[in-house]
Amino acid sequence: MPVKAKPASRAGKVAKKTMTPATKNNTLKLKFDTSWTYAPAPESKSAAIINKQYDLFIDGKWQKPLSKTFIDTINPATEEKLSEVAVANEADVNKAVVAARNAYEKVWKKIPAKERAKYIFRIARMVQEKARELSIIETLDGGKPIRESRDFDVPTAANHFFYYAGWADKLEYAFPNRKTAPLGVVGQIAPWNFPLLMAAWKIAPALATGNTVVFKPSKTTPLTALKLAEIIEEADLPPGVVNILSGVGSTGDAIVRHPDVNKIAFTGSTEVGKMIQRAIAGTEKKLTLELGGKAANIIFEDAPIDQAVEGVINGIFFNQGHVCCAGSRLYVQESIAKTVIRKLKDRLESLIVGDPLDKNTDIGAINSRQQLETILEYIEIGKKEGAEMYQSSCNLPKKGFFCKPTLFTNVAQSNRIAQEEIFGPVLAILTFRTDDEVIEKANNTPYGLSAGVWTDKGSKVFNMTKRLRAGVVWANTFNKFDPTSPFGGYKESGFGREGGLHGLLPYLSLKG
Ligand code: NAP
Ligand code: MG
Repeated sequence: MPVKAKPASRAGKVAKKTMTPATKNNTLKLKFDTSWTYAPAPESKSAAIINKQYDLFIDGKWQKPLSKTFIDTINPATEEKLSEVAVANEADVNKAVVAARNAYEKVWKKIPAKERAKYIFRIARMVQEKARELSIIETLDGGKPIRESRDFDVPTAANHFFYYAGWADKLEYAFPNRKTAPLGVVGQIAPWNFPLLMAAWKIAPALATGNTVVFKPSKTTPLTALKLAEIIEEADLPPGVVNILSGVGSTGDAIVRHPDVNKIAFTGSTEVGKMIQRAIAGTEKKLTLELGGKAANIIFEDAPIDQAVEGVINGIFFNQGHVCCAGSRLYVQESIAKTVIRKLKDRLESLIVGDPLDKNTDIGAINSRQQLETILEYIEIGKKEGAEMYQSSCNLPKKGFFCKPTLFTNVAQSNRIAQEEIFGPVLAILTFRTDDEVIEKANNTPYGLSAGVWTDKGSKVFNMTKRLRAGVVWANTFNKFDPTSPFGGYKESGFGREGGLHGLLPYLSLKG
């Protein structure tokens, strides 16, 4: 059934820029003619099959939860229930770990690496074949614009499977003169911001290196991981090699504490990451943590300004700011600050906020009511701290969880909106004069996941990237991902790398 074309209040409202004469300080003022809109272009829900209820995928079969408990997952753009999914308890987790252990000992560690690769290639191709359905489900369940699910999340997930499939029988080239061995059963726990991509990001390297998996998606976005379980079933992967358990925090905790799990790969908040680290202290479990961030985007006066402004917009408003590496702090060199802020405000006004299924939408729904409340609380904190707020004048849809794109100027380095992760479409703007000053300010955070540098000079890029304490530094671009490139943080952003050759290492022991 096609989705009813719904002009989500301001959705579709597009800025037609008209120039007015130069103002007295000689800057051009842009006016927005909002008298016309794009016609709605919604993707059809009919291409997505969502079951009414999902059980747990354990040992290659869909099994009723021993917990006998199910929870709803909703569409955050409409607050409508999409489906209900099982909640795995400790006994369910144990069942999955036993299945994964059996599959590891009896099948997976024994089959030739090139056979493992074939399974992973098969999953990659099936993700590609079902790309449209997966994109729609990702958008329905999580609230992100269909353009992102379709053009980023799903293709990048398929690419991770392709990439790691290629490594499966070449591990001796990845680590020359060393003997590699899998770890055994790995427990993997993912957040809600890139549900399918995080599943691919974790499951693909684990399988390529010969491990078996117990994977837990987030409670607010479990559906694409469960669709992936269907793909894995259809791909005929030996039973128990991948087990997918929907659930809540206690499900994750049971995976972390299970004595027969050899490694935990966690992506989520720094708070839960610290709890996991404490829980496994003193055990032999290996751990990688991909945690929060507070990335600095730095614009120097010699930067191509329009390109930089677009990069900043992409950096913080992409996926509603639900991005661990979101460029949530902007440092702009004082001499160009006025121009950059004006351009950012103009661009904010032209962003289309609304129905995530509409192909024109730039900013979709916030993932949950709880997350929306957190973001709104931070906006209030910013105002109370004395920063100056600017929001787009768009109207928000009446139903669902939406937040206006917001920026703050006059922000002090010590303000909470400049220090803490907001995980929403909120940008804190600060200024600087010299390289040393901006390095000190950018590094002055407990996090260290990513950063961006905008300048015309290659030498300046290298100078900055060397001194920025961040796992990823983008130059004259932002939020670019590739399966061949390692990703991970410093300090409270975690440790270990996912992606690329480095992403194989946490799933292996090296000998010799
Ligand atoms: P979260 O609350 O830490 O949850 C992450 C996952 O851990 C969820 O599946 C959650 O289950 C589960 N969990 C909760 N309590 C647990 C416990 N005690 N033991 C084990 N697992 C537990 O994070 P989130 O709110 O979903 O995601 C947002 C955070 O993730 C942000 O801080 C963001 O920066 C970070 N993130 C980091 C990266 C990166 O690569 N560095 C990427 C994406 C997101 P339920 O939620 O289902 O209850
Ligand atoms: Mg949902």
